Amino acid sequence: MNFHILTLFPEMVMGGLQTSITGRAMEKGIISIEAVNIRDFSTDKHHHVDDAPYGGGAGMVMQPGPIVDAYEDLCGRISKRPRVIYMTPQGKVFNQTIAEELAKEDDLVFLCGHYEGIDERALELICTDYLSAGDYVLTGGELPAMVMIDCISRLVPGVLNNEVSAQVESFHDNLLEYPQYTRPEVYRDMAVPQVLLSGHHKNIEEWRRFQSIQRTFERRPDLLKDAKLSKKEKLFLEELLLCSAETGRMPKRSDLGSDV
Ligand code: SAM
Repeated sequence: MNFHILTLFPEMVMGGLQTSITGRAMEKGIISIEAVNIRDFSTDKHHHVDDAPYGGGAGMVMQPGPIVDAYEDLCGRISKRPRVIYMTPQGKVFNQTIAEELAKEDDLVFLCGHYEGIDERALELICTDYLSAGDYVLTGGELPAMVMIDCISRLVPGVLNNEVSAQVESFHDNLLEYPQYTRPEVYRDMAVPQVLLSGHHKNIEEWRRFQSIQRTFERRPDLLKDAKLSKKEKLFLEELLLCSAETGRMPKRSDLGSDV
């Protein structure tokens, strides 16, 4: 999978993405990430890429010419016109489902704005998608692009050593991931749950599912309406609801009748 980032700050995005798992995936040739410097496409003798907004107002606006030219140059180089995602607080908020859909593409372009944003005509000409990192305003689109590329890369086969880990973690099935433990077995008098030491795979799997449900109930109950639960798991969720309604607080493990 090939990621192309249109940005005024190539060193910022490449510095972050060349590190750790995405960096290794690039070295192995599983993904490629290039940052295209929009400033290289300025026709201004001082390499300006922004100007004051028509109609007045604060700040500067990125001009359409260098952005559209940078995209057209890219399309010429790779002989296709990939989707262009504009990083904007006005877009749909990025999530795991969107990442899974985008991971099916061969090439994706991330357009990073700065200052007051980008001249609307450039967006109308080249953008296919508008995505936001969340309901807050950042100084530029570089951090959102890095977040999204990191997330999408993890879904590309071969990027993670353990393929299974991308399939069973938080947001899969609309549930948060269960708690994880590693050595030592006892730390500051806190023991690892016994079931995880039992070697009994079915019991471990069931314990983890119940933990996921309880954790999602406590931290992100909004996700549960779309979670696919078995009959037994639905009963467990009802027990959680009943218990928290009766006690007015989140249930502790000892409050529950279920063997979890
Ligand atoms: N004036 C713009 C508005 O109100 O929609 C905000 C401009 S912002 C200061 C500068 C750039 O940062 C934007 O063009 C966009 O690329 C990026 N940006 C800021 N917040 C973002 C967010 N939550 N998600 C994605 N990109 C964001």
